[in-house]
Amino acid sequence: MIVLDTTLPEIDLHGLLRQFWGFDEFRPQQEAIIRCLLAGRDAAVVMPTGGGKSLCYQLPSLVGNGTTVVISPLIALMHDQAEQLAQMGISSAVLNSSMPFAEQQKVMWDAKRGVYRLLYLSPERMAREGTIDWLHNIPLALFAIDEAHCISEWGHEFRPEYRMLGRLRNNFPDVPIAAFTASATQKVRHDIIQQLGLDQPGKYIRSFHRPNLHFVIRQCDSKTQFDLLLKTLKAHEGSTVIIYAPTISAVETTVDDLGQNGIEAVAYHGQMGAEARRRNQNLWMADEVRVLVGTLAFGLGINKPHVRAVIHLALPKSLEQFYQEAGRAGRDGEAADCLLLWQKKDIGLLAYFIEQLKDKEERNRAWARYSVMREFVEGSACRPRTLCKYFGETPKWESCGACDVCGYTLAWLDAKTLVTEKKLLPLESETSVDEGLRDYLRKWRLAMAKQTKQPAFIILHDATIDDLARRVPHKFPDLLKVFGIGQAKAEKLGAEILAAIQSFENGHRLDDPDQHGPKLSPAEITLQLLQGGKSIAEIAQIRDRKVETIISTICSLVSLGKIEWQPTWMTAERRKLIEAAAHQMGFEKASPIKEILPPEISFGEIRLVLADLSKNQ
Ligand code: ADP
Ligand code: ZN
Repeated sequence: MIVLDTTLPEIDLHGLLRQFWGFDEFRPQQEAIIRCLLAGRDAAVVMPTGGGKSLCYQLPSLVGNGTTVVISPLIALMHDQAEQLAQMGISSAVLNSSMPFAEQQKVMWDAKRGVYRLLYLSPERMAREGTIDWLHNIPLALFAIDEAHCISEWGHEFRPEYRMLGRLRNNFPDVPIAAFTASATQKVRHDIIQQLGLDQPGKYIRSFHRPNLHFVIRQCDSKTQFDLLLKTLKAHEGSTVIIYAPTISAVETTVDDLGQNGIEAVAYHGQMGAEARRRNQNLWMADEVRVLVGTLAFGLGINKPHVRAVIHLALPKSLEQFYQEAGRAGRDGEAADCLLLWQKKDIGLLAYFIEQLKDKEERNRAWARYSVMREFVEGSACRPRTLCKYFGETPKWESCGACDVCGYTLAWLDAKTLVTEKKLLPLESETSVDEGLRDYLRKWRLAMAKQTKQPAFIILHDATIDDLARRVPHKFPDLLKVFGIGQAKAEKLGAEILAAIQSFENGHRLDDPDQHGPKLSPAEITLQLLQGGKSIAEIAQIRDRKVETIISTICSLVSLGKIEWQPTWMTAERRKLIEAAAHQMGFEKASPIKEILPPEISFGEIRLVLADLSKNQ
């Protein structure tokens, strides 16, 4: 009798991990998932953001001769991955309908010749006629479905094009399918398995708990909020940060106020032109500007690994939204802070918006989310534990040891209290980093990024720079021990890295790119434009800000006595009306004054007059 040996030949997976990625260990479950796929089985994987899903389908693609087809809805993310793979010496391509036709043709042709280890397809491209036929001519190894929850109507991001993926199983019965998602309730998980026709898949569900994220929640008022924000950013100087602001004007004022305090930040919101939005996002992605202030429009498809802090300036509408946004911190697995600086007025505002909802069912659901949110921020339960329970887990632990409830404090938040708490930062491994060298290498990376027109993190991760500054390699073989440097990267960049380290040791220093000439603060720019005779509306256009935002800046300039009242701001008649109303209603607040004035007189105009009157008093 012939006994078939169905066990896998021993493949040195760790060797591949070291050689191509420069990583020493697998993250939890990665190895098991990879082995499951290599054995030709289907898999269903739920892993939190930053868990390391992509490695689970990228690494198996190196074994054997077939091509792994990856379906992902996020085009920017596909291009990022293809670029990173190229750096590692792994051949891959992206195919989506928005690419030039000739380029698509070339990729389709090369795919048939089997030159790609990985082929990224958008779901739209997948749904196009003829795609299935074409796929039949490709030596397929695996289908990897990213963001698999998009296939389910039960999920919160259903995408009709994903439904087409249900046809893969019948058309390619022999090709294993792996589904990956970061957000799926049990119902959605079942739905994914059913819709894709997965056959007894290996199920890998990792906890939503991300121990490297430190949650700190603080109630503040508008004064203390900005103060805490400033302290946080100063403590995180030089690192990448996202700030979520509740409204477009809050985004703009925050950017301006930060600029006023010497912190450069870029804005991102839905009312900016597409061009400006892209420019700001790119500045941030390339590490040219470290702080981005956005509305919730920002973040989908952003996979910048080394975001060190996400700061919320208001209560989000739901815990899902909060975790999705806060979870953009620390994708690289290193420690990161998730700060929620909320104000009492947020609660009233949320309630107000819920009351505006017409549909009763919808209103009830919104109220339910509201009470969960309040319980989360006002309660005294461990934050990650509350989050895990909310996502349907039953954590075996009581205390995470790393959130504000469990005793974690950010020293700068309580300037008055002495920091005697057990400190979780800096991490033990960070102690022997040569700060000077780290700083030098970051600047070197930025110059490199500009030269090669690539985002800085694609060139080297922060964690890799830290490890370089810790190990200070001088020889090629030492480079290969550094976290995040694999064979291909060492061959491509190794000589330059070693040369940079040598230059640093020889006393060479690089300029800080931010310090070329004095930069003007937003208020100074506004002042110059005013002095140049520009109207408020023109300044708003030039500075890409809302009129209200410009008026706020002018109000501070007026009350500081930096600029005199300009007759072009409004007619004398209008000003008189406002003055009279202010005498009647008091000079403190704009809203009572607004109420007794004709509706065409705006808040901005009232605030301008009040600012001028307060200066004269
Ligand atoms: P996900 O898709 O699950 O959100 P990614 O695949 O983008 O996560 O991985 C997040 C980060 O973790 C990436 O920067 C990746 O390089 C890194 N990473 C993945 N696996 C490992 C590992 N075994 N060791 C170290 N870093 C890893
Ligand atoms: Zn905790």
